[in-house]
This record gives sequence, structure tokens and C-alpha cells, in this order.
Amino acid sequence: MIRRNNPVLGFVLIALGACSHPAAGENNGNSLDIFCGTLIDGETDSPKHQVLVRIVDGRFAEVMADASREGPYDLDLRDHICLPGLIDLHTHLTDQPGDTADLSVYYQRSQEDQLVIARESARATLLAGFTSVRDVGTYIAWTDRALRDEINSGSAIGPRMQAAGFYLTVPGGGGDLVIPGYAEESIPVSVRQGVARGSEAFADRTRLAAEGGADVIKVIASGAVLAFGGVPGEPEMTPEELAAVVEVASARGLRVAAHAHGARSVIEAIEAGVTTIEHASLIDEAGMRLAKEKGVTLVMDVYNGDYIAREGREQNWPEEFLRKNDETTEAQRQAFSRAVELGVPIAFGSDSAVYPHGLNARQFSIMVQRGMTPMQAIKSATTQAARTMGWEDRVGRVAPGLYADLIAVREDPLKDIASLERVSAVIKNGVVYRAP
Ligand SMILES: [Zn+2]
Repeated sequence: MIRRNNPVLGFVLIALGACSHPAAGENNGNSLDIFCGTLIDGETDSPKHQVLVRIVDGRFAEVMADASREGPYDLDLRDHICLPGLIDLHTHLTDQPGDTADLSVYYQRSQEDQLVIARESARATLLAGFTSVRDVGTYIAWTDRALRDEINSGSAIGPRMQAAGFYLTVPGGGGDLVIPGYAEESIPVSVRQGVARGSEAFADRTRLAAEGGADVIKVIASGAVLAFGGVPGEPEMTPEELAAVVEVASARGLRVAAHAHGARSVIEAIEAGVTTIEHASLIDEAGMRLAKEKGVTLVMDVYNGDYIAREGREQNWPEEFLRKNDETTEAQRQAFSRAVELGVPIAFGSDSAVYPHGLNARQFSIMVQRGMTPMQAIKSATTQAARTMGWEDRVGRVAPGLYADLIAVREDPLKDIASLERVSAVIKNGVVYRAP
């Protein structure tokens, strides 16, 4: 159930007073008129001014520039800049950063315990302005699906989600939760659902994910930073295994997201037909050119290296993780700059869970420092992200027919992109979750 005593919703309901805007989670038959001083619509490069955004039944019905300032409006954002709800293509809403210090907590927790954490993360993410996410892996299998279903039914507050169900990974690979000092027999099967070796086994695990209700398939192609024993630059899955996953996934209309730091794995994953390369820290020139040629999107989590280096050390994360983070952070940022120069498609993905949920937007500043214009960075988290998810007809733009997901900030993000870290209004599906 929506918690009616929720302080933010309570505030919003009071702030909006007598107007007939929809209560949380309900939007049937309701309309909401919003006045935006400026609108960055996610589609065009030039912002519109004095815009009336009319929402009917949870969708944008009308977007009219140069509207009268008179109103009346249900939500008056004349001092604000409105944007489409933001999209993060790389979250792990079910997990949290503090647990990286001791991953064995996932051996002990029940799915219900994990969901209690996940609901808070989902709520923080939505209130930070991220109205859609692609959630690319959870340690306790299917916790992401449970969270997605709760959000869709209105019993939890959070972004629209695409869920992966579990990681597809080789034994001991970046998505396999083996921890030094723990015998394999003592590890619960719930954290090893997607562990496979060989094309047939990977095809089988992919079918399991698809039939269980995954929206996207996540493979760990190369070694990982935050896992024991893996080498980020080295392949873990073979080209044949990657191809087997893509074949099963695409036959079921699902896209594949490939975790790949190493240059060789990046190329092998692209050639296998994946839709996105996650991290791409050590991608080379050939990989970038191939990604551009094939229209494969890079999802480069260029902020969290700073968080790991500082907070991870404070929290005593395993030394091996900290070392691998140091080895990939700057390399990834340089690769990001080059990929921007070359015009490779790049979509916003933060790897939140590595750092706290709700701070997703911190990544925008690094993206702009490393070569994107503020408008490119905004599009990476709106139109580009929506296209990459296959949701371009639902989200990512403020245009009639799309879901009414809208945010507002006080300062112009085209002048200072960090203003996206201070979102003052959040509307999802025509429901106001945060208002100034
Ligand atoms: Zn991740």
C-alpha cells in the first residue's frame, strides 16, 4: 500500500491544496495542469518558455509554449526548468553500498529482508528525479522482479523498472557471489541462479530468466571490479556463450546488457549482438568504432570510482576491490572522452548501489567535465536512455501520448549541470511525488 503518512506525499498534498490532482498511485480520469517557466523536452535542443503541460490519465496530453501566465494551474513551476523524468540504465536497487564491505550478508538475508532495503532505495531514486531505471542484476535472484511488481501495482514507490532477475556469469565470475573462506556447499542457491559454463547452459539460464519475467538479460562478459578473483581486463565468457545468450534473448524480444571492462570482451560482446556495453572502462579505439558502427550503446558509470576510492576505503571494502577501482577509474574517464569525440552512443548509467541510491545525478558533472555538453548529458539520461531500453514510445520526452514523467529544477542545468542533483519536483505517471 502507498503509505499515506509519507511525509513527502503529505507535503505535496497540502502544498497543492484544493486542486483536484490525483492522489498517489491513482490517476484515472484526472487531469493536472502544470506551468513550466522553461521546458527542456528531451527532444529538441532549444528549450521552450512559458509552457503549459497538461496531463490526463497519467499521460502528457498537451505541451504548449508561450502559454498565458494567468492559469489557474495545479502546479506552478514558473521559476523552474522542467525536464522529462530522468532514466538510469544501470542500477541495482535491491543492493546497497555498505554491504560491499562484507558480501556474505547476502548469504544470510531472506528475499523479504532484502526487499525492505530495496523499497527504500527505489523511493530515494524516484524522489531524486529518476522515474525509470534498467536494473541490471541482483544477488538474491528475482528480488528486482518482486520490487518491480510492487511498484507497478502501486504498493511501493519507485521508478518504472526493467529487471534482469539475476546475473548470467561463469563459475567464480563477476556475478557469482563466491567469497574466499566460504565453502561452495555453504552458499545458498538463490545467489547463484545464473551461474553457467558452456553455450547450452547459458542458453538454458537465459530461458529461465526470460520465462521468469526478466525484462532484460544481464551477462558478465569480463572480470569485475567489485568481485573476488576477477580481472577486469580479462574475458570470462566466451564469444560462443555470449552468442548463445543473445540468440535466446532476442528470440523472446529481450535485449542483452553486457558487463565488459576489457577491450577484448567489449568487441566480443558487440559481435555477439548485445545492446549495451556496461562500464567499458578499458575499451579501445577498435571497440569504440565497432560500437558506433553497430549502434551499440555504452553505459559508462564514470562517477562511482570517486565514491569507492573515498568511502570504500573508509568502510574497509576488500583491498582487491579498491585496487581494481583505482586501476579502472581514470582509464574509463579517458575512454569516455574519446567515445564522446567519436560520437559513439552513450546512455546514462550510474551503477547505483555501488554508491547510495538517490545520488545518481552526481554522475552528470563528470560527464560534462569529460566532454559532453550539458544538453548531451541530459539526452543521455532521457531520449538516448529511452531508446536503448526500447521504451522511446513511453518515456524520455515531454510529448503528447507519453507517460507523464516530469521533473523540475531551480537552476538552469544547461549552465550548471549539477542542478540536476537538486530536483525540486518529481511527477511520475501524472502523480506528484515531490513539489517545491
Ligand atoms: Zn553494476
